[in-house]
Amino acid sequence: MAVDYKEPAPYRRGEPNPNESMMVRFDKACQLYGLDEGLYNYLKHPVKIIIVSIPVTMDNGKLEVFEGYRVIHDNILGPSKGGIRYAPDVDLDEVKALASWMTWKCAIANLPFGGAKGGVRCDPKKLSSRELELITRRYTVNMLEIFGPDSDVPAPDMNTDEQIMAWIMDTYSMHKKETVTGVVTGKPIVIGGSRGRREATGRGVMIATMAAMKTLEMDTTSCTAVIQGFGNVGSVSADLLNEKGIKIIAISDVSGGYYDPKGIDVKRAIEYVSTHKTLEGGDFGSPVTNEELLEIECDILVPAAKEDQITAHNADRIKAKLIVEGANGPISADADDIIAAKGTRVIPDILANSGGVIVSYFEWVQDRIGYFWDEDDVNARLNRMMTEAFDAVYNTAIKYDTTFRLGAYIYAIDKVSKVLKLRGIYG
Ligand code: GLU
Repeated sequence: MAVDYKEPAPYRRGEPNPNESMMVRFDKACQLYGLDEGLYNYLKHPVKIIIVSIPVTMDNGKLEVFEGYRVIHDNILGPSKGGIRYAPDVDLDEVKALASWMTWKCAIANLPFGGAKGGVRCDPKKLSSRELELITRRYTVNMLEIFGPDSDVPAPDMNTDEQIMAWIMDTYSMHKKETVTGVVTGKPIVIGGSRGRREATGRGVMIATMAAMKTLEMDTTSCTAVIQGFGNVGSVSADLLNEKGIKIIAISDVSGGYYDPKGIDVKRAIEYVSTHKTLEGGDFGSPVTNEELLEIECDILVPAAKEDQITAHNADRIKAKLIVEGANGPISADADDIIAAKGTRVIPDILANSGGVIVSYFEWVQDRIGYFWDEDDVNARLNRMMTEAFDAVYNTAIKYDTTFRLGAYIYAIDKVSKVLKLRGIYG
């Protein structure tokens, strides 16, 4: 059941790995911005990488050993922040890329956080709840010196949820001999979670999409959208975009997708998934594969599933006018120029999906003050911060005459490097 971590994770379709994809954009942005070589070298590498072994006695009595990672890219703006993913193919390169993305994401959103990411190489689908709990608790114990409300604050990511965050909080608190709710975000509301956190990433995707459509002068009353991924991010994005009058013509998840040019009843699909777990067996339109779905003619495409879905192999077949990256890294770097040459605009992941970490920040703040806001308050603050982040990225892209993606990187690099200079190098 445990994955043999000594073998490198099989890269999806042999694409450039996510860390290379991140570095290509980072390098281009540093060149355009003219970043000092020393600062470039500083920001290129994570400040800390932790790899731990996680032994667990499985339900069948056998001892299995899993591998866990936490990469702290930096803590220049504040404690490092970022999710933990559980997946059979997660590896250090992926976690490194995701950790740096968190640095840029937090900087763009004006949060007082650095960037980090964690991962455990396991297949959650094959694990019992007891096994999942043991993996989580042992991973947390291994990270006791790393995690902390003022040092490094994890959150959910792919295949991790509120329950897993509750186990992390409990394990950490047991060792500290006091309840430390602020050590992790994305917790259940009853134990210090924030209202609106669960929907925050999808809500942020909707806010970023609406802001982009306004800027690009797209007519929201006659637009169509295709959403890849129907987990937390994809389903909430689809629902909220639909509420804004955008017709959702295709949806998908790991089991495959559906296309209906007349428009899909998103709420019915959400209802269906809540009882059946996936979209499989539903009647939401003509069946399409995840690959076909990306190529459907539409105004807005939201890839909200996983990395490297749009690469040099299929980029020229994408017909959307606007792509909003709900997932982290759904477009590989080798596809950027092909997409830009077609005139397709991309709202990059480090802006588009930052709603999750923005409300994580609100959760951390509420845990620290011990006073909890109502959902309207959370949503209004999210709306304001996302809109400000969008405007900052847009203005930077205009100033440097570049894409929204490179504008986003430049804005983040400018902020982080200025703070780094102010703090100075100790040593
Ligand atoms: N995992 C989410 C992300 O990639 C949220 C991170 C957080 O809330 O710290 O942005």
